[in-house]
Amino acid sequence: MDFKKNDMVTVTIEDMGQDGEGIGKVDGFTLFIKDAVIGDVVEAKLMKVKKNYGYARLMKIITPSADRVEPKCSVYRQCGGCQIQALDYQAQLKFKERKVRGNLERIGGFTDIPLEPIMGMEEPYHYRNKAQFPVGTDKNGEIVTGFYAGRTHDIIPNTKCYLGTTVNEEILQVVLEYMKKYNISAYDEAKGKGLVRHILIRTGFASGEIMVCLVINGKKLPKSEKLVESLTKIQGMTSITINTNEKRTNVILGEEIHLLWGRTYIQDNIGDITYRISPLSFYQVNPVQTKKLYETALEYADLKGEETVWDLYCGIGTISLFLAQKAKQVYGVEIVPQAIEDARENARLNGMKNAEFFVGKAEEVLPKLYDQEGIYADVIVVDPPRKGCDEKCLETIVKMQPKRVVYVSCDSATLARDLRYLCDRGYEVKRVRGCDMFPMTGHVETVILMSRKDK
Ligand code: SAH
Repeated sequence: MDFKKNDMVTVTIEDMGQDGEGIGKVDGFTLFIKDAVIGDVVEAKLMKVKKNYGYARLMKIITPSADRVEPKCSVYRQCGGCQIQALDYQAQLKFKERKVRGNLERIGGFTDIPLEPIMGMEEPYHYRNKAQFPVGTDKNGEIVTGFYAGRTHDIIPNTKCYLGTTVNEEILQVVLEYMKKYNISAYDEAKGKGLVRHILIRTGFASGEIMVCLVINGKKLPKSEKLVESLTKIQGMTSITINTNEKRTNVILGEEIHLLWGRTYIQDNIGDITYRISPLSFYQVNPVQTKKLYETALEYADLKGEETVWDLYCGIGTISLFLAQKAKQVYGVEIVPQAIEDARENARLNGMKNAEFFVGKAEEVLPKLYDQEGIYADVIVVDPPRKGCDEKCLETIVKMQPKRVVYVSCDSATLARDLRYLCDRGYEVKRVRGCDMFPMTGHVETVILMSRKDK
């Protein structure tokens, strides 16, 4: 059968793709349908037709899946933030387990995968400690804030996001009221004019400290004392800053931070470790799950106190300091110099003297130190970005022959590829566990323990 754009089809959703989109077949033709969940029978309209597959838009649910639930958020279909809010949370977890297993099997060629039960959340909402709301003007000239629609820069007005903290809503109202009252303009991306671009909010879940940072297309915020006056009435307010970004770019933050009130940073704890977080720092967004993830990484590392550990892609040293509690010595490697400054500051803040940090690419720093100084590791932990580890980095890990490698991954496809490389060179996969850091989205984090077969 020949399909063309705008055709209506009835499809049973049999699978879900990497991003949580529904997948079904009509006469052997595969269709990807956003917002349809596994088990649904839906009516959909073809939007894009390729040779062997196509994309369709969900028009009507004919028979809902037994796992379909009513999404809490009224704009979940337009907003780009959530993909699988219509799927029951337990079914979301099953989907993520299948995704990890599937990638390890298909891409890594693994069988008999020792998959442990995924770590889910008890309360899978309001888990994000960070939110960045774009500010703009709607058709009627009203100042609005909310979220970008999927794959676009159209702002969907919404101050009530179920993934963020409840205090976000109050803060956004205060900022909008201040802007309206004192005629502060919103940034217009198309023209590159106007002042307020984004509102960045961070909350320390353990400390209760709140940070508000207004990203502005300029150096000064008129009547900022009025904004400060209102914001400081909110309990927990610790840091109010402005960040200057005058570039015509998609990058949210500029480099300059100017203090309006309080401190330029907040502090938060994960377990017994305190971290300092500035508007520019990278910090895991789901602290409840991060703790579980790091505890699992620590358990897999199986440290007794005498080990030398390398933590590659260490960011601000979050995992490094967690490991340093149990290891003799930890070395972290990270490409962003500012993050390494934070890592050193965090080590000082916690009085930890057994953590040392190097700036540079893991695939350059590690081979260089190995060739020049013959560095050693009992355990190597890696937590790379989505593209996974560079082969040069994996090659050096194999040469260093650590007893154990703990791989923390945010993309199980590149994870599978990297595990295959290591398992063809002396390692075996011992333990695998998913962790749901981003409920309502298609993402899943995975922790893996590998050990050398001859040790
Ligand atoms: N382990 C940290 C950060 C993980 S995110 C935590 O849990 O908080 C991945 C990190 O890898 C980022 O900080 C990124 O800046 C860094 N990175 C990206 N490419 C890199 C490379 N080639 N070498 C070293 N670090 C890199």
